[in-house]
Amino acid sequence: MSRSILLAGNWKLHHAPTAAAEICGAIRAGATEAGTVGIAIFPTALSTSAVLAQLDGSSIDVGVQEIESAPHGAFTGTNSAEHAREMGCTYALVGHSERRQLYGDTNAHVAKRLTAALDAGLLAVLCVGETLSEREAGNAETVVAEQLTVALGSLPLDRWSAVTLAYEPVWAIGTGVTASPEQAQSMHAFIRQWLQDKSPAIAANTKVLYGGSVKPANARELLSCPDIDGALVGGASLKAESFLALLEIAKHLDQ
Ligand code: PEP
Repeated sequence: MSRSILLAGNWKLHHAPTAAAEICGAIRAGATEAGTVGIAIFPTALSTSAVLAQLDGSSIDVGVQEIESAPHGAFTGTNSAEHAREMGCTYALVGHSERRQLYGDTNAHVAKRLTAALDAGLLAVLCVGETLSEREAGNAETVVAEQLTVALGSLPLDRWSAVTLAYEPVWAIGTGVTASPEQAQSMHAFIRQWLQDKSPAIAANTKVLYGGSVKPANARELLSCPDIDGALVGGASLKAESFLALLEIAKHLDQ
């Protein structure tokens, strides 16, 4: 298995440009020996220029949190994947549960945005995950399978190398409640099997991150699960100290 770990920090609507640059400076300084662990930061759209300037020449990637399905046009208030790419972004987050819950993004919207990201030359991090009531009703896998099928079901095989998945149970995002390693691994194994049914090569190569209250205290157990290939981190990515603590754990997983 050759999937390397990715640590992605989703800053949501935090850190104005000055603070964002300061924190990225500290992350950059502390991540000089990240080894094979990849790092990506998703700042707010308005802090992206400051973050890109601060990280210029480093191996830390920058992503856009939200993109429109079209590259340009009459879409007041959103972001263009093409513009993000031209600025120097590498990644686009699509399907985050806050977008689904607060802005009504459906699986169909998410599918279009995923395509827009790939068309612009960005790597997509597609978020999937069930709500608490869906889990309690025994529907977690059905919900995740539907999210995957609508977003990725017809993606040509040659586009898969640009896709990373993130399983984020909605009940664990920003709540302090984390899925247990067993719960997380069980869903990751389900996702891996879904990928396997597409193609063994895709299943072997596609990273599936876990997200939901990941912090230094629980990261080692989660990241040690065989089908978890990194983390999408909200709260614990907001300070360089905690993000770098996660990096240290990710670097030394085998020890
Ligand atoms: C997220 O925003 O994707 C997330 C997982 O947040 P938190 O780590 O704060 O739960």
